[in-house]
Amino acid sequence: MKSDWMNKQVLVIGAARQGLALARFLASHGAVVTLNDGRLEQDLQSSKDQLKNLPIRWVLGEHPLELLRRTDLVCVSGGVPLDIPLIVKAVNLNIPLSNDSQVFMENVPCPVIGITGSAGKTTTTTLLGDIAYKAFAKVRKVWVGGNIGNPLINHVKEMTSDDLVILELSSFQLELMTISPNIAAIMNITPNHLDRHGTLEAYTSAKANILKHQTSNDYAILNRDDRGSFGLRQLVKGKLVSFGFSPIREDHNGSYIENDAVWVTNQGISEEICKLNEITLPGKHNISNVLAASAISMVAGLSQEAIRAAILEFKGVPHRLQFVREWNGIRWINDSKATTPEGSMAAIEAFSDPIVLLLGGKDKNLPWNNLLKLVNRKVDHIILFGNAAEKIHGYIKAMKFQNQKFTLDICNHLQDAVITASKIAEPGDIVLLSPGGTSYDEFKDFEERGEKFQSWVQQLQ
Ligand code: ADP
Repeated sequence: MKSDWMNKQVLVIGAARQGLALARFLASHGAVVTLNDGRLEQDLQSSKDQLKNLPIRWVLGEHPLELLRRTDLVCVSGGVPLDIPLIVKAVNLNIPLSNDSQVFMENVPCPVIGITGSAGKTTTTTLLGDIAYKAFAKVRKVWVGGNIGNPLINHVKEMTSDDLVILELSSFQLELMTISPNIAAIMNITPNHLDRHGTLEAYTSAKANILKHQTSNDYAILNRDDRGSFGLRQLVKGKLVSFGFSPIREDHNGSYIENDAVWVTNQGISEEICKLNEITLPGKHNISNVLAASAISMVAGLSQEAIRAAILEFKGVPHRLQFVREWNGIRWINDSKATTPEGSMAAIEAFSDPIVLLLGGKDKNLPWNNLLKLVNRKVDHIILFGNAAEKIHGYIKAMKFQNQKFTLDICNHLQDAVITASKIAEPGDIVLLSPGGTSYDEFKDFEERGEKFQSWVQQLQ
């Protein structure tokens, strides 16, 4: 339901991209906005400059409880934990909580496709955007965003009922949501962000919000191959559609693999989308992303021709298994976005050539055992770097491999790891940066880490 913001007292906690976009939207609709961030004034000067023409009150460096006095609504940005005293007190005082995605969903005038999951969100959202651009050409406007790119709340005023929105949603954004998209896809659910959500149940419950508030006319797209995603099928209120490698039931709609090709089936009519060898992206996980995008496109009414053409042209998203350079017969791959052990596992599985793996970054308190078992099967050499290096090394020692097949180096920084890799790798090898940890120990974000990696690799001679 659309809110009337005039003179509403709104507290926005978190002055990063989403918080700034939301504060701008609310203030320009007449709300009295206070923007609060734990960071200090000197670290937020450029953010303040961006909103300098709006009457926004800034409270920085702490989260004082007095901010709740006369507050009608508290909007929480993705990175802010819901258990800080300010938010706990707001809940105790029965002040409603919201966030940028919720406010966007309350105001968006057109159908929305939402995509969430532990891994594959950005790749699938981007591919689906490409398919929709092709399908609609210039006839309907397509907006792609959410957790990626420009927050779409910035553009909601320009949208019309004929448009289509494709929205990547993180578990943080979903945590507080009480409106679900018309088409909602859950890629997979694996332990991720447990540092923030505490338990897998809480994390799953946040993700499930993407379909909990759907109606019987809506579509839920779940992954047959993933227990976390498919386990939510009892919650589906609309029409269940599935994707996956495993066979699809005859009376179900969705996508599947047959005769080395991707197929979609809807109401008993099946269509081939493309052969597996026409997909240029490496790795089985990317086929899963293609299967998801195909199933979503099918229910969104996008044509087979558009789906096929976009898949064949799709070169992936930067920092996800991105080819950087071949140097002395060695291929260097940037997968800086793999910030969980599962992400690194998907990357390792994508290659059959010998791998030198750069692993580390900042530990997120996720278990490393399964990744290390895979490393022992498939990786020749690992180079640990950054904050997580000692911890991963501890895991390796504790696992006491009977037959440890990989060799190991430890470096302080990613740059040292690149130099070490250049000395160890041999022609025919792949040097894979797929760290499994986040970038915050050394870099602003995974993009900066990936860009630095690429520039150090380009400098090798
Ligand atoms: P997200 O937006 O969910 O973080 P991305 O599409 O950005 O996902 O991919 C991030 C990393 O996760 C990739 O580099 C790859 O290693 C891994 N990945 C991508 N898609 C999948 C998938 N469907 N299943 C498992 N891992 C995946």
